[in-house]
Amino acid sequence: MSSEPSNPSPKGSSSLSAIDHTLHQQWTNWGGNQSATPAYTVRPRTEQEVIDTVRFAIREGYPVRALGAGHSFTPVVQTGGVLIDMAHVSAVTGTDPAKRRVRALGGTAIREFGPPLWEAGLSLANQGDVDHQSIAGALSTGTHGSGIHFGSFSSTLRWARILNGHGEVVEVTEKDVRELRAAQVALGTLGILLEVELEVVPRYYLQEKITYPTFEETRANWATDIAENRHYSFLWCPHPDSGALYELPTPPGESMVNRSYTKRYNEVDVTDEGAEVSTAKGARRDRAYRIYPGGFGIPFHELEYYVDSRHALEAVEAMQDLMRTRHPEQEYPLEVRWVKRDEGLLSPFQDRDTTVLSVSGAPGANYWPYLLDVDNLLREYKARAHWGKIHFLTRDRVAELYPDFDQFVAVRREFDPNGVFLNDHTRALVA
Ligand SMILES: Cc1cc2nc3c(=O)[nH]c(=O)nc-3n(C[C@H](O)[C@H](O)[C@H](O)COP(=O)(O)OP(=O)(O)OC[C@H]3O[C@@H](n4cnc5c(N)ncnc54)[C@H](O)[C@@H]3O)c2cc1C
Repeated sequence: MSSEPSNPSPKGSSSLSAIDHTLHQQWTNWGGNQSATPAYTVRPRTEQEVIDTVRFAIREGYPVRALGAGHSFTPVVQTGGVLIDMAHVSAVTGTDPAKRRVRALGGTAIREFGPPLWEAGLSLANQGDVDHQSIAGALSTGTHGSGIHFGSFSSTLRWARILNGHGEVVEVTEKDVRELRAAQVALGTLGILLEVELEVVPRYYLQEKITYPTFEETRANWATDIAENRHYSFLWCPHPDSGALYELPTPPGESMVNRSYTKRYNEVDVTDEGAEVSTAKGARRDRAYRIYPGGFGIPFHELEYYVDSRHALEAVEAMQDLMRTRHPEQEYPLEVRWVKRDEGLLSPFQDRDTTVLSVSGAPGANYWPYLLDVDNLLREYKARAHWGKIHFLTRDRVAELYPDFDQFVAVRREFDPNGVFLNDHTRALVA
């Protein structure tokens, strides 16, 4: 690990007058369930402006949080101090086809990776349901797609330049095993991810296959579907209107109750893109980065818990039972996905192949009794949780669920001993 020699002292920073910023501007997240009014909202255009902003904050005693695309449902962005909107610190800065690597600035949206990677013969190995998130935001919360053979974005992080709580730029390489594993999922608490390097794969095309099986059919093909599809996931519908809440195209005139909107994406050879790419509904064939992102235009508030895949079917059936018997008023589907194990100190997928269970509540509704019941139920399965989606984990629970929790806290304290990058939410969890 090395620090950059160029003026690491925060004392050299001046005021924010040269950097685009506003005072006391309210911020609200995508879901509309989190907001804050920071003293300063700063929109840097360059890495140097990010550095100057953090050094200003350190000198003046303000806490700092970075903002990606605001797609988290938890209070991970909020601050009353300095909010750094990273939207304009964004570019794919290099590709290395031989090493299968890509570098990008922290604010780069996931959707910006597709075309330059493709040009270099490369692709991201997997993606989630949308591609609006910034890469640093996605890494900071352990964002993932589905597919038991593929890890989260965080599992692909191989190098990073981080602006820490001393106001220094630190380079973390593959040789810095402990720091890299801490940086893979850090909730923004090590500092600002200025630039990151991800491991990628040779570019590939995907063939989509959408089906609507009953749950009995889903259960009958459980192990094969998980193992034999590159990407397999389903959204089980408890209610006739479930599909519409996530804008899922479902078969007209047929009830979706106890059936699932099921996605299978597999690699396919395409030799003549002009002739072979297909936009057929439910059977698209295209470059991978064009297949992954779905819709999700209507806001919802999502909870997401993670169980060891070996207990997944039992956990899914327990969730269905809870939804049918105790919360029949809840209409959102139960989304089920898979993520390969990884090594991040705070990664929810650390050391266990994972099945992802997500449910949502409607904005404006009192969904708390439901979500608390989900928490109680999945606690029995030693469930971890998505850091960016609603959860009820406390520091004690986190320490119990993450064997390397103390190691993460130690690294965090080295990077940011004065807690410049903490807010109330993260202080309670990982200070
Ligand atoms: C419609 C929708 C669909 C979603 N689909 C999926 C999905 O398929 N899979 C999945 O796993 N999750 C999914 N999510 C959750 C989402 O991926 C995460 O919450 C992710 O963190 C959001 O990224 P962001 O850029 O919006 O980050 P933000 O929410 O803005 O920030 C998240 C965290 O990252 C930190 N951060 C941001 N930028 C930096 C930086 N440069 N340096 C250091 N820290 C930084 C922030 O301070 C904060 O702690 C979805 C969310 C929504 C709303």
